Amino acid sequence: MPIYKAPLKDQQFVLHEVLGAVDELKQAPRYADLDEDTVNHVIEEAARFCEDVLLPTNMVGDEEGCTYDPATRSVKTPKGFKEAFDKFREAGWQGLAGETEYGGQGLPHLLQIIFYEMQYSTNQAWSMYPGLTIGAYECLLRHASEEQKNLYLPKLVSGQWTGTMCLTEPQCGTDLGMLRSRAVPQPDGSYKITGEKIFISSGEHDMAENIIHLVLARLPDAPAGTKGISLFVVPKFVPVGSGADAKVGARNGLYCAGLEEKMGIHGNATCQIVLDNATGWLVGEPNKGLNAMFVMMNGARLGVGVQGLGLTEVAYQNAAAYAQDRIQGRSLSGVKSPGTSADPIIVHPDVRRMLLTARAYAEGGRAFAYWVALMADLQLQDPDEEKRKFAADMMSLMTPIVKAFMTDNGYKCATECQQVYGGHGYIRQNGMEQFVRDARINMIYEGTNTIQSLDLLGRKVLMDNGAKLRSFGKLVTEFIEQYGTRTDMNEFITPLADIGDKVTKLTMELGMKAFANQEEAGAAAVDYMRIVGHLVYAYFWAKMAKVALDRIKADGDGVDPFYRHKLTTARFYFQRLLPETAFHIRTARSGAKNLMELPAEAF
Ligand SMILES: Cc1cc2nc3c(=O)[nH]c(=O)nc-3n(C[C@H](O)[C@H](O)[C@H](O)COP(=O)(O)OP(=O)(O)OC[C@H]3O[C@@H](n4cnc5c(N)ncnc54)[C@H](O)[C@@H]3O)c2cc1C
Repeated sequence: MPIYKAPLKDQQFVLHEVLGAVDELKQAPRYADLDEDTVNHVIEEAARFCEDVLLPTNMVGDEEGCTYDPATRSVKTPKGFKEAFDKFREAGWQGLAGETEYGGQGLPHLLQIIFYEMQYSTNQAWSMYPGLTIGAYECLLRHASEEQKNLYLPKLVSGQWTGTMCLTEPQCGTDLGMLRSRAVPQPDGSYKITGEKIFISSGEHDMAENIIHLVLARLPDAPAGTKGISLFVVPKFVPVGSGADAKVGARNGLYCAGLEEKMGIHGNATCQIVLDNATGWLVGEPNKGLNAMFVMMNGARLGVGVQGLGLTEVAYQNAAAYAQDRIQGRSLSGVKSPGTSADPIIVHPDVRRMLLTARAYAEGGRAFAYWVALMADLQLQDPDEEKRKFAADMMSLMTPIVKAFMTDNGYKCATECQQVYGGHGYIRQNGMEQFVRDARINMIYEGTNTIQSLDLLGRKVLMDNGAKLRSFGKLVTEFIEQYGTRTDMNEFITPLADIGDKVTKLTMELGMKAFANQEEAGAAAVDYMRIVGHLVYAYFWAKMAKVALDRIKADGDGVDPFYRHKLTTARFYFQRLLPETAFHIRTARSGAKNLMELPAEAF
């Protein structure tokens, strides 16, 4: 069975030494009492839950999967899933970042993201049940009526009820304008909803007493396309009463008609959901459902990006341990283990390349994702309006990068770590092929990575005339100005400044091309995602290198090796991963013609 130890040291390094997160958060009245000890304690307890409770359920969940009983239309989750969720609920983990007025603990979302990372390392499929519940909670918190909030939020925050997001239909995936589910108003203010949803994660299961579906559907007089979509809350059991005392009542008219057989995340129930005159209630304004649902979708996009991080970390830990242990061949620079018939494969340069790739993407991704999570807290809670606006802009710009760049890296790293195992990585019992299979979905759901790339280049950069990108660029420039004269920072600052300039030039060039022909943006978007993703990682790697250099200087020979290793990994990132951008700049510049020229019938 795969091993996992939460990377507490690195998590705390990012939080306290790189981001100074507690000081930032303490500016907000809601987090005024927060301190580093509390934060560390929460993370350590969360780590214990993931290591002791979740990890043992991961391979079982993959092998057993969920089972559907057509007679009762019920779904049984794999062995240990329900028990793990009971423990999670009893410990109050579901409400970690939830509002105290609804029974949550009121802690920062940043801590939730850190917990997610560890959950996704130890059981991604399981973690999607509580993860979607948080998404439904956040969406209702921002858009539901007071009555709806009082009814649903205490149950969601406690984990007694779980949530789903129901967007996709057979004919409607990326293009939500094609959505067909219908909602007909009833005299009592409710709606009767009819339609078919597919691919609904956590859509039916045996882990909680009720499931609260957030469903997109059309009102009878709704305009066509995305402007005619409304959001409804549709519970599996219609609740009776309110608040923490609410009970489950009559079975509603929606059911799971089957489960998808799929490549990975077998422990998560991916359901076909039939709405057969189900009773639902409108959330927010009519025809503004997509806007409301974006709260859930954006939260889910951050969560999915962190799935990429979690899988990178666990795959890395296992591959690193294997490479120390497995002996094959001899080191090119002379025998390293004379007492054994071969050296451990960690001596081989290319094995190290694979391991360092995963390590550098994990540590860079961690710094980036935690910073974005900090922005999520600051955009809501910081007392300074300008800081709230900056944080909101960064969230908006970075959300597609978290989702796409981190999950592309996650899949790449899971595959590299599988490769470290040679043939043993292809064998089920070592668990590496599960990481590869699980990582693959993260590039697809929550808007494919192509769609995220189009969102980044089209909506977040070009439609905004580059304003948000320039705000981030200002952070980069300030950092360069501050440390650009330090010779020990040269090897990091020079390539960071270089990629910053290149992004500026490329963005202007693509903007002009796209103005004349929008297909130019479509043709360059995926390359552009990798280039801007690297700009962001280069910034965080340079910041981490600076902290490490300062510590090495201050502590001299007695320095904790952690900081030397951080610096070495930073060098690997700048010398071996960042140069990928040269390739992507070239392909992005090559234009749309080489993609669009071949007639469709010739494919
Ligand atoms: C395991 C799993 C769990 C899921 N969970 C949920 C869930 O909980 N709730 C939910 O509502 N949905 C869920 N989904 C659905 C998921 O979000 C969609 O599959 C995804 O958004 C893509 O839609 P699609 O599959 O219809 O692909 P399509 O939209 O048919 O896309 C096919 C291909 O065309 C590309 N493409 C489409 N449009 C464009 C465009 N305009 N420009 C460029 N390229 C384009 C896509 O990138 C993709 O490569 C889940 C799916 C899976 C497999």
